[in-house]
Amino acid sequence: MSVERAAELMARARAGVALTGAGISAESGIPTFRGAGGLWAQYDPVKVASIDNFLRDPSAYWKVAKERGPAVLAARPNPGHHALAALERAGRLIAVVTQNTDGLHQDAGSRRVIELHGSGRTVQCLDCGSRESRAEVQARLEVEMPPRCKMCGGIFMKPTVVLFGEAMPIPAVEEAFALARAADVMLVVGSSLVVYPAAHIPSAAVDHGATLIVVNAEPTPLDRIAEVVIRGRAGEVLPELATLTSAA
Ligand code: NAD
Ligand code: ZN
Repeated sequence: MSVERAAELMARARAGVALTGAGISAESGIPTFRGAGGLWAQYDPVKVASIDNFLRDPSAYWKVAKERGPAVLAARPNPGHHALAALERAGRLIAVVTQNTDGLHQDAGSRRVIELHGSGRTVQCLDCGSRESRAEVQARLEVEMPPRCKMCGGIFMKPTVVLFGEAMPIPAVEEAFALARAADVMLVVGSSLVVYPAAHIPSAAVDHGATLIVVNAEPTPLDRIAEVVIRGRAGEVLPELATLTSAA
């Protein structure tokens, strides 16, 4: 069975690297963008969550964030996040590279987390640079729209996430590709693998000799270069994978 085969590969990993997408947090109650039940069915994130839209009208951005934010802030790590933290503690993973901005890997105890799209837990004023926690700004939305900077009164309070149209943080991208090139096993979880350059990371790993394992609810474009493809829910598959890996 494929989880057993994946566990055999994981058990031998000396430089295992995980790449995660929105799918790993779906079972924590955070909707994905793509895939069944994805947010793109409700509205177009390229319009709402683009830097152009944010700079033109921060209220339009924060009105959606007001609806969506509380569920994200209240979300807890699920067994999938905990299993990746356990694999790191056991020495089978050396890092988690994530496209997510929810902070749930850190909450689960993963120590080396590379956030390709930044973090939604902090908000920064584009005028004066001061930072506040997302929870504080989120609470103000009830009385203030858009939220204003406490230091300078500016209206461009932006979560420290990469919006559509913004560049990804170069140090994080470089670290992710360096990890991929040095990886012996690359474990992709809950990513549609259609957002670039994140989707290039597993190919870079395979090109440099890594074995690829894909855990996803739906097919991905990189399934054909994977050694093992496990179609299922991350919160169910990963705990089984971690248990079998430690027993192998
Ligand atoms: P994605 O491209 O990573 O696609 C999600 C994939 O997960 C889909 O292929 C889907 O079939 C799969 N999936 C859904 N539920 C699953 C489950 N329980 N177990 C395993 N697989 C499952 O992500 P996206 O939704 O297209 O979003 C793209 C970008 O949007 C992300 O890279 C991120 O920057 C941002 N985003 C972040 C969050 C978050 O922080 N949690 C949530 C939504 C979007
Ligand atoms: Zn300011």
